[in-house]
Amino acid sequence: MKLFDLSGSVALVTGAGSGIGQRIAVGLGEAGADVALLDRRSDDGLAKTAAAIAALGRRSIPIAADVTSAEALADAVERTENELGALHFAVNAAGIANANPAEEMEESQFQTMLDVNLKGVFLSAQAEARAMLRHGRGSIVNIASMSGAIVNRGLSQCHYNASKAGVIHMSKSMAMEWVGRGIRVNTISPGYTATPMNTRPEMVHQTKLFEEQTPMGRMGTVDEMVGPAIFLLSDAASFVTGVDLLVDGGFCCW
Ligand code: NAD
Repeated sequence: MKLFDLSGSVALVTGAGSGIGQRIAVGLGEAGADVALLDRRSDDGLAKTAAAIAALGRRSIPIAADVTSAEALADAVERTENELGALHFAVNAAGIANANPAEEMEESQFQTMLDVNLKGVFLSAQAEARAMLRHGRGSIVNIASMSGAIVNRGLSQCHYNASKAGVIHMSKSMAMEWVGRGIRVNTISPGYTATPMNTRPEMVHQTKLFEEQTPMGRMGTVDEMVGPAIFLLSDAASFVTGVDLLVDGGFCCW
């Protein structure tokens, strides 16, 4: 068994047009996988990810789709298997973030957050696992957040925090449903990470606070999400399922 090696395998990554999902998708290419790239973005985000993977000599297919659509996800998995081969690995990173005090939040804002961040991960993992269960082998990593375990000081985002706590516990539940059928399911919970989600101009003040509040004194980089993802997907983690891996610069220790 070659640890950390994904050579000759096929992976699907949601949220592959930006940030953490984009960098992990390229990282899976670096580890030897061909990668289906799913995102709802219609700009050049997916094209950039695809170009980076092509430069590694790996194949990829860009798929413009929304993770709130079960039908779109079923089509995406079918296309992945038809064009790249049997699906064995998936990383579900598509997500959104915003903030609003709980007492002012409209029902629709709460609902949209849950639809994308929780139902979107459910539908993605369901579509991926249906294929993996047919093959009797697979590994899924869902991107949750440390906000699923702690409440970020100063950020009014009860809907986001609830969605991420949901992702962590749903993933453990899926891990147990599929544990005897060759599928592992784990989550990565990033701490503050420098991506477009956190580096918008209006976030400059907030970003400084994030750095001060993190024991390592800085935000994480998207590069630092790759190793944990490859570990959890690969045979290096063959006895690891139902785990939430905090990648947070020590944030949750304080
Ligand atoms: P990002 O905004 O850079 O990337 C998110 C991607 O998801 C975008 O390309 C977006 O188009 C896509 N997306 C959003 N809604 C979608 C939908 N309905 N269907 C398909 N694609 C959709 O953000 P990021 O920081 O890379 O976040 C990636 C994941 O990591 C998210 O789940 C986020 O909650 C989580 N996370 C981020 C941080 C952080 O500090 N950046 C911390 C903890 C967790």
